[in-house]
This record gives sequence, structure tokens and C-alpha cells, in this order.
Amino acid sequence: MNTPPELPGIDAGRVRERLQSFARIGYQRDGSVTRLAFTRADLQARELLLHYLAALGLKVRIDAFGNIFGERTGSDPTLAPVLAGSHLDTVPQGGRFDGSLGVVAALEAVSLLTGAGVDLPRSVQVVSFSCEESSRFGVGTLGSALVAGSVAPGEVLALEDRDGLSIYAALTSAGFRPDELDSVRLQPQAVRAFVELHIEQGRVLEEAEQSVGIVTSIAAPTRFRVEVTGRPDHSGATPMALRKDALTGAAEMILLIERTAGESESSVGTVGTLRVTPNAMNVVPGNAVFDVDLRGGDREDKQQMVARVEQGIKEIALRRSLTVSSQPLTHQEPVEMDSEIVELLTRHCAARGIGQRQMLSGAGHDAMQMARICPAGMVLVPSSAGISHSRDEWTDPELAVPGIQALVDTVIDLAAR
Ligand SMILES: [Zn+2]
Repeated sequence: MNTPPELPGIDAGRVRERLQSFARIGYQRDGSVTRLAFTRADLQARELLLHYLAALGLKVRIDAFGNIFGERTGSDPTLAPVLAGSHLDTVPQGGRFDGSLGVVAALEAVSLLTGAGVDLPRSVQVVSFSCEESSRFGVGTLGSALVAGSVAPGEVLALEDRDGLSIYAALTSAGFRPDELDSVRLQPQAVRAFVELHIEQGRVLEEAEQSVGIVTSIAAPTRFRVEVTGRPDHSGATPMALRKDALTGAAEMILLIERTAGESESSVGTVGTLRVTPNAMNVVPGNAVFDVDLRGGDREDKQQMVARVEQGIKEIALRRSLTVSSQPLTHQEPVEMDSEIVELLTRHCAARGIGQRQMLSGAGHDAMQMARICPAGMVLVPSSAGISHSRDEWTDPELAVPGIQALVDTVIDLAAR
């Protein structure tokens, strides 16, 4: 660990002010923020970021997908840069911290360095990735996935939003270059590391009264749709023993999912949808369809959980004389954060007396894409009551200061070598 050069502490007032300025863009009357990717509000937020980058004298690059990189040049141009940042787009009626806080934290790192006139061998880049939220085009972390080469430009260009507007058209009207998406990809040797700060979007830190979460791995979802078929019958004339009730079968399967996911600390399982046919009070349900979302931070635990859920569903169907079919929707492996960065974050927290815990991130982030091409790490800061993607999303800037400090110290440490 390198001892960071003497810098003034995090300027919480400046952090608050920048956050507020971003929150004003796309601000809704109910107190939420809506900046869907590549819409007017999103473009305005980018303009504000460009203004901050210019004020800090950074060299700006905007790639063909609109990802923004603001570089504070290091003294040795042969060394790969250290990247920090997150995203500025939001879900519809989202909060003011998700994504923005990570960009503001990276700005704070550069503001402190530049304010103190510190020279570092490596460049430090403030990054804002395009289209992190899946709300508009149905797929998330698109900007970082293109940078990491984990999605093909052709797949991205096939996407359209709910109004049938293609991402090609959205990019073009935003002034970006959909025909040049091949150029977005960065090679592993082009990036020394990526560190992202994000609100936790859960309640673990708040309940543990800890200010910093150091992410060891990002849980990835396996999703599939289950269709249970029984037989629709008269609810009065059909004795219980003669029924093939698809809904009670589905109910048992859903409880099985809850139980199985609860058996490992690193796993979660959710059924958030259920469609019943014919959906009538006086008909035994003949058909039930539900979507399963299983996530885990440990590869083996997660594999086992998925296998046990699949097996359990089959057994329940067999016992109840129902037929069941399952259609895969997504399968992603959990992504481990870089152990060197986990260690650096841990040691810098210790050096400052900041209480931290290592933890799993249940939500997906740009860092999980960047981990494919470079050492990646994440710092989580507490979310009030764990609320996110809502107008009630809240993190007091004072509470975020220790996390921002850990990010700043780690970025400087990485850039110093
Ligand atoms: Zn986010």
C-alpha cells in the first residue's frame, strides 16, 4: 500500500452541490428523477458532466456509444490509466444517487488531486458509462459491456425501446455514432484498473451501522420462465382429490424457491410475476406462468441452488400430476472483484479508521463488465432504508464521505504505481 499524498479531506459540500445539480436534470414533480438513456434529460446530464470535466482541465473523450472519459494526465504516458466512475442514466422515476454518486465521487478524486497539484505517474479518468439501466432497451450495462467487449455491437444495434424506436436511431439523434460501435472496445492493456462507488440499494450496511461496503463479488442472475399446466375445472363440482390445480402447484414451487435460496447466505431467489389462466374465482386454475430470478455471489453455491430448484419443480409437478416446462431467459455467472483492489480498499479504510465490511453486491453494475478486461473493484455506501430506484432513494452526503475517501485513496494508490 502506498501512503496517499497529503490531500485535504473530501469536500462534502462540493459533493452535495454536484449531486444536487445532477438531480435537477430530469427532476419530476413527485421528487423523483427520470433520465432514461439517450433522452434529452440524459444528454443534459452529460453536458453538465462535460462542464465539470472542462472546469477541471481534463482531456475529454466521448466514444461512439457516448461513454464519457475525462482524463487527468499522468506524468508517464506509457502507463495505463486508472478509471473511476459509474453512470448518469436512471430508471423512470428513479433516485438521485444511483449512478450519479459514483460519477461525483470520481470527480471528487480528481478535484482533490488537481486542487493540491499532486503529480501521479498514471492518468486518472472520470468515466460515465452510457445506458447502464435496462429500463429503456431491456438490457443493462450496455456502455461498459461494449467497452469490455462482452456484447457484440450487432446485438446492441438489434435493441429497440418500448415505443419501437431503435437504439440506432436513439444514438444517432443523440449525436453518437452507431456505425462505429466496434471502436468502443478497450483492450485489457489499455486500463490499469476500474473502481466504482455506488449506493448499496439494500439494507445490509445500514443495519450493521457500517459506512463502507467493499464488494468481493457481484451476484449475477439466472432467470427462467416456468409454465405449469393442470386442468381447468368447476370449482364447486370438482372434488379436491380429482383436481389438477396449476396455481397451487406453482405456489408450492415458489415456496420451494424461497426456501432453497435462503439456505445460502450468498444467494437470493425471487418470483416477481405470476399469471393465472383462466384467472376466474370459480374455476380451478388450469395454467400458471411465473418468472424465477435466482442470484448468487458464489459460483458453485449458485449452480447448486439452480439445480435444486429445477429438480424440486419437477418433483412437485410429478407428485401433483401437472406438466411443467421451463424456458431460460438469462444465465450469468457471478463476477469476482479483483483481490488486490479489495485489499487496497480494506487497508485504506483501516488506515483512516473507517468501519467497513466485505460484502456481495446483489445488484449488477458497470464494474462487473469492466472486470472482464481489467482489475475492478467496488465501494458501496449506505442507502437509507435500502430504498432505491425511487424518489425516496437517499444517502446523506456526509454518510457517503468515508466511502468516497476510500475510493479516492485507492485510486491515488493505484495511479501512483
Ligand atoms: Zn446504478
